[in-house]
Amino acid sequence: MNIKDLPRIELCNVKTPIEKLNNLSKEFKNNIYIKRDDLLGIGLGGNKVRKLEYILGDALEKKADIVITSGGVQSNHVRLTVACANRVGIKTVAVLVGSEPSKYKGNTLLDKVLGAEIHFADIKNKEELSTGDLNRLLDEEGERLVQEIKSKYEKEGKIVYVIPGGGKMPPGIAGYINATSEIYSQLQELRINCDYLVTGVGTSSTIASLIIGEKLYNTGIKPLGILVTNTLGSAKAYAERIKTEIDGYLKFYNWDLNITLDDIKLFDAYTGEGYGIPSEDGLLAIKKLAQSEGLIVDHIYTGKAFAGLLDLSKKEFFEDKNVLFLHTGGSPALFDLDSDLL
Ligand SMILES: *Cc1c(COP(=O)(O)O)cnc(C)c1O
Repeated sequence: MNIKDLPRIELCNVKTPIEKLNNLSKEFKNNIYIKRDDLLGIGLGGNKVRKLEYILGDALEKKADIVITSGGVQSNHVRLTVACANRVGIKTVAVLVGSEPSKYKGNTLLDKVLGAEIHFADIKNKEELSTGDLNRLLDEEGERLVQEIKSKYEKEGKIVYVIPGGGKMPPGIAGYINATSEIYSQLQELRINCDYLVTGVGTSSTIASLIIGEKLYNTGIKPLGILVTNTLGSAKAYAERIKTEIDGYLKFYNWDLNITLDDIKLFDAYTGEGYGIPSEDGLLAIKKLAQSEGLIVDHIYTGKAFAGLLDLSKKEFFEDKNVLFLHTGGSPALFDLDSDLL
């Protein structure tokens, strides 16, 4: 299967810029460049737009009237699903997993502006649960609610298309496989050689796509993932899960590529206490990037990923090689951050 043959809606037909972080690069042996996917076209941008071009292409082909998707209360994926689905006239039902905030801020505010039908998947007596049990039960409740809403609309005769959290499904991976070749040709035009591409890892289909893209196009730019979640435990556990995920995509598309665990490079030292919980080095990274280069990252994804890049640069992990940071978006979540933490 060639990804050129997949149904697609065009939402980001302009290449996002690659910029050099001049001020920060002076501090390290390696230069740092940034790929501005926070500027991707629509709904305040972010990596999910690339996935949604293909996911909504598939939904349109299946004649969907409604998409249902889920995510955390500050989910960028949910916000961008609503924005992109609006473009093609499909209604979005958003299932936000967690308690309804007293005031809608950041992404939740945008979900409302964009006109999603919003539901909260919440459970009782949360205080009595361990973090692991809490996350598991919340996810189960989210899944139950998605199915309940799906049957309700199907009974009304609607065609419902469910998009898993983070847009983690086979059509979505085409987005960052394309981005791999976009980055490669852009770097060639700019006459820049980058050895590494650093990105945050949540539901993981972005890094999975970049790893596949690197092998498909033989770019020599190694994807490195900074984990922003720790429910599975170690980086090793995530790498094994991503290997299974990648094997599934290769089988789905019938691609004959040799991808091993060694190709999946992940770091678990920058997650802090867990998904969505601000970390000390993440908050410092947010301020450092803003105050040196005027660019905004958030406390859930890109701040933690950038903290990883800064620490690895400081430790000379990259030696004198150039590094490209993938700015996957997420800055709207920052408007939900408690300013006392900064
Ligand atoms: C979703 C998201 C990521 C992680 O992408 P995955 O494909 O889920 O691993 C990183 N950064 C931001 C801002 C995101 O919204």
